[in-house]
Amino acid sequence: MSEKKDKSKFALVRSAVQSLRAYLVPDATGMVKLDAMENPYQWPDDMIRAWLDEIRAVEMNRYPDTHAVALADRIRAVGLVPEGCELVFGNGSDELIQIIMLTVGGHGRKVLVPAPSFVMYEMIARFTDTEFVGIPLRDDFTLDAEVMIAAVRQHDPALVIFAYPNNPTGNLFDREVIIELISQCNGLVIIDEAYQIFSNASFIHELDQYDNVLVLRTLSKMGLAGLRLGYMTGQSGWLTQFEKVRLPFNINVLTQFTAEFALQHYRVFQEQAERICRERTRVERIMDSIDQVTPYPSDANFILFRCEGFDAEELFQGLLQNQVLIKNLHSPGTALENCLRVTVGKTHENEAFLNALTMLVTTDFSLL
Ligand SMILES: *Cc1c(COP(=O)(O)O)cnc(C)c1O
Repeated sequence: MSEKKDKSKFALVRSAVQSLRAYLVPDATGMVKLDAMENPYQWPDDMIRAWLDEIRAVEMNRYPDTHAVALADRIRAVGLVPEGCELVFGNGSDELIQIIMLTVGGHGRKVLVPAPSFVMYEMIARFTDTEFVGIPLRDDFTLDAEVMIAAVRQHDPALVIFAYPNNPTGNLFDREVIIELISQCNGLVIIDEAYQIFSNASFIHELDQYDNVLVLRTLSKMGLAGLRLGYMTGQSGWLTQFEKVRLPFNINVLTQFTAEFALQHYRVFQEQAERICRERTRVERIMDSIDQVTPYPSDANFILFRCEGFDAEELFQGLLQNQVLIKNLHSPGTALENCLRVTVGKTHENEAFLNALTMLVTTDFSLL
């Protein structure tokens, strides 16, 4: 095929998509993997055995339950959401963000988000033709109430999203400021509680007070990233609208069965989360004692840190050469300049990271 013909063919691609780059997932083969906020722990053996026994009965020849009724019942029974809460499920909460933007976003609509925050908000805004407005956080990554309120007044966004705790900064925004913004906003406010199991903070019990707030959750960060399951809740009028946009069988039978099974053992995940939080405190303290890096306080299962007086990219590469994969967030001239993010793993994984970090910052990077 001629080059010209090829080019004209791809001219069909909408410019919003042309300008995007696909989400990059690095190869982690052989690495201590601390880049993606995964829970490092497996299930206990007896739990795996029980799961294998029961999964035989799953009917792969049938379409899944479109409303995942048994799973929704389990989520309520475990107390993750208040009794009577209706739920909409997504193939990961990423898909729910997409459903929300397809429903209330689009041409001529704006989504307003504190910056920096979760990258998928901007990506999904762009390919749904929703105008993305990022409002800078303060230097310590707290919400600037006045700036946010002014921005909401100026832009009148259809959607405001708070990751609570925030990714990649790890902190919980001030609750009072969020409540004030909810009252000032004509649009829908999404509280994305992806890290709820590590933070114990939530808006889930206050949803009946607001007609413009939804809470978004995922099972990914608590230990089921491979399953892909997110849920959202809020006033049922909203959920009815989102259900029109959700593809009918988006949650497959294996995910529905396994998530329901796993949540019968929710205590296992809570204990794992507690271990992760204890490790977080320990890693934070050690990082605090290293002059060349500044860790930011975290309510999640990761730690954002800034490199002081040297290039984060060099440290990132140096860690890679020591088989430690973390996340490079460095972008010159932005709030994340010289910042990296490490997920809290098992003790020996965190030690591998801390040892490599200490070794690298105390040697000359140019020797690498
Ligand atoms: C990881 C993450 C998500 C996406 O989670 P999935 O359910 O795995 O799609 C959503 N929001 C925030 C803030 C996250 O950090």
